[in-house]
Amino acid sequence: MRRFRIWRRRHAHDPLVCRAFVELVTDYLEGALPQEERVRFEAHLAECDGCTGYLEDMRRLIGSLQEAPEPPPDPATREALLRAFRELRDA
Ligand SMILES: [Zn+2]
Repeated sequence: MRRFRIWRRRHAHDPLVCRAFVELVTDYLEGALPQEERVRFEAHLAECDGCTGYLEDMRRLIGSLQEAPEPPPDPATREALLRAFRELRDA
């Protein structure tokens, strides 16, 4: 019980800070944060495992989006699919 209360007190400020953190993550990854914000961001990162994990997830997500962009729809494929659906419907 005592350990739980210590944990609570140490992390009492976290929910609000973490929410601010989440809102800043994309700006941070794009390098769009002002210096002062970035310092606060990295200070929070140093003491919050949850946000460290979140940042890693976002970085992976953004990296995967950049490496494998959604392919534009292929007109030939789309036409073949539409034809198949039409044939199914009319059958
Ligand atoms: Zn946090």
